Amino acid sequence: MTTPFSKLTANLDDIAQQGLYRSRRIIASPQGTNLEIDGRNIVNFSSNDYLGLADHPDVVSAFKSGVDQYGVGSGSAHLICGHSTAHHALEEELAAFTGRDRVLLFSTGYMANIGVISALVGRGDAVFEDRLNHASLLDGGLLSGARFKRYAHADVLDLSANLEKAAGRKLIVTDGVFSMDGDFAPLDELALTAKNQSAWLMVDDAHGLGVIGERGGGIVEHYGFTQDEVPVLMGTLGKGFGTFGAFVAGSEALIETLIQKARTYIYTTALPAAVAEATRTSLKIAIEENWRRDKLKKLSEQFRQGAEQLGLSLMPSLSAIQPILIGDSQTAVDISNALLEAGFLVSAIRPPTVPQGGARLRVTFSALHDEPDVDRLLDALARAMIGRT
Ligand SMILES: *Cc1c(COP(=O)(O)O)cnc(C)c1O
Repeated sequence: MTTPFSKLTANLDDIAQQGLYRSRRIIASPQGTNLEIDGRNIVNFSSNDYLGLADHPDVVSAFKSGVDQYGVGSGSAHLICGHSTAHHALEEELAAFTGRDRVLLFSTGYMANIGVISALVGRGDAVFEDRLNHASLLDGGLLSGARFKRYAHADVLDLSANLEKAAGRKLIVTDGVFSMDGDFAPLDELALTAKNQSAWLMVDDAHGLGVIGERGGGIVEHYGFTQDEVPVLMGTLGKGFGTFGAFVAGSEALIETLIQKARTYIYTTALPAAVAEATRTSLKIAIEENWRRDKLKKLSEQFRQGAEQLGLSLMPSLSAIQPILIGDSQTAVDISNALLEAGFLVSAIRPPTVPQGGARLRVTFSALHDEPDVDRLLDALARAMIGRT
């Protein structure tokens, strides 16, 4: 007997046959460089907790005192009665940190991106996105109702050709540090193009903030760009800052527009105030403790040198994301499984997260890793790849 659901089962079989089946691992420990998975101790090279703050004792205790002060739930959306002193203080501290007039907190980065793009452009306008932008930016562009145009990765000439033809408001959107490649957006050329074409530039720096730049100011600090060059800056709190949530930074007019118009801000419950309290502490640590960024740089360099000696196919990354290009999805999964067997968690990233034929092992580092961890990973990689590539 066939039911509407037998189709689903057939679709699932298809997904599995292409080596694209996704499943979850159950983690029994806090986040960190070592995870407990199925009763085994596994060295973690898959996390976005780059600075090692997700389980930092000071961040944990700030969270606990936040709960003591505010309880757990925030009770409603920010615009009703959910916007606490803790949220407000965090917004002001993030504005100072990013050197922007104001900041608005969102419950997740996914929601921030959808809310911002839809608040800024709509029918009759145009949005231009790098082909390798994060899924939430692409979804935001599609949902906005504006004319949606993707340009070749980091290709400002391709972007310019399309910009000239566009009418209405024009919004250029890019990852700062690309999430699956680790390379930087060509922000200098993008900012110049935006200026020449009277377009707005929006940068999502989920993977750069806290990690890149002397003070962890991310890609805009790296390029020395202010609110004038990058009027819409989005960041997440669940990666470098180790907690949860997201924010948008920019002018008074931008933030007030988002409060009036961003539906994913207006119609959702505020994140718990205790998360904001925890983030205030992790932000302070991220700014002050330069050694975390220095350590990440050293670990990445050590890994790149070792990987080159092994003849692995690295990507031109300057960040804590160091992917190894494999190509075939099933091969990437097989190597990832062999690594897990050997005690290392390195996730295989496959289409549609990356382009067809672009499956890769996404290795990420934490400031809490040490040199011997990287040596052991390189050893395990060499063994796992024998006969597979
Ligand atoms: C993770 C990520 C997001 C989504 O942020 P969440 O807070 O996890 O929803 C958005 N953009 C980029 C580039 C990301 O890597």
